[in-house]
Amino acid sequence: MNAAPPIEGVLADRYGRVARDLRVSLTDKCNLRCTYCMPAEGLPWLAGPQLLSDDEIVRLVGVAVRQLGVTEVRFTGGEPLIRPGLVGIVAAVAALEPRPRISLTTNGIGLDRLAPALRAAGLDRVNVSLDTLHPERFTLLTRRPRLADVLAGLAGAAAAGLTPVKINSVLMRGVNDGESPELLRFALAHGYELRFIEQMPLDAQHGWDRATMVTADEILARLGAEFQLTPDPAERGAAPAETWLVDGGPARVGVIASVSRPFCGDCDRTRLTADGQVRACLFATEESDLRGALRAGADDDELARRWRAAMWGKRAGHGIDDPAFLQPARPMSAIGG
Ligand code: SAM
Repeated sequence: MNAAPPIEGVLADRYGRVARDLRVSLTDKCNLRCTYCMPAEGLPWLAGPQLLSDDEIVRLVGVAVRQLGVTEVRFTGGEPLIRPGLVGIVAAVAALEPRPRISLTTNGIGLDRLAPALRAAGLDRVNVSLDTLHPERFTLLTRRPRLADVLAGLAGAAAAGLTPVKINSVLMRGVNDGESPELLRFALAHGYELRFIEQMPLDAQHGWDRATMVTADEILARLGAEFQLTPDPAERGAAPAETWLVDGGPARVGVIASVSRPFCGDCDRTRLTADGQVRACLFATEESDLRGALRAGADDDELARRWRAAMWGKRAGHGIDDPAFLQPARPMSAIGG
């Protein structure tokens, strides 16, 4: 095992993994307040000067794509659709050589209006988060009465060709865990690809409890009572979702079982927060400050060197099962989910 990070080339770590998938948080703010993510009153948001500017984001993504072998760029947040410069950022990233694939993780609010411009700018596809199809339950879960906007966003994304449109759902015991078959029927009827995400200890309120978390096994058992699920023969690669063909396919359903079936050994992700910190993992407790280096005049080679060093230190696994596990100081919304 080499002790020093590589001085050139891709984002390798000491366990032989290479990060090719960059998640970029465009803001820590959100227009929903999902109970498992943020408190009702919101969080102390990053101040304007702390945020990377649009040009700084494009510069850092350019370093990742040109010098570090990143081939996938996913914009997230907070809620990325509320970042005013989003369409311009997507266009600038789509103009990079080699052109990365570009996707967006969003709550879908406003996507019906923005989807055509995002598509024209070069966005390839979207993941829309939707945990329930019942308006009152949606309002309870997100603390905002916006279900109709999300459904319009999904339809707008599909109409604009941002496909495959994927839906991410988090199931909460006693709240929406009985709704998984209904969510799948909805996704199948509209041609969306549904993935359930196990709830992770990344909430600002530190309310996560392993004992009450809805596990992949439970999700699959409930779905299996209504649908015939067979393991997807397609190669999984570094994808976080394990997928199953539904009733013989070609439709699929996925489960991202970060807690009960961790996939850290195949992880190919690197993360950039809205304030310009590189994180090797959602659960990392260390960050590497690229914003400070960039604003102090570092050239692209120096930024690439710092990024490589940050990823070299990536831990073998997220460590949720480790008795010494500590939830990272930043919640999911501030890291970029
Ligand atoms: N606002 C965007 C959205 O709603 O997709 C992007 C950011 S959000 C943090 C990204 C995803 O993380 C959403 O699907 C959300 O449900 C999920 N999420 C938030 N907190 C989570 C947690 N503690 N465990 C698992 N998933 C979580």
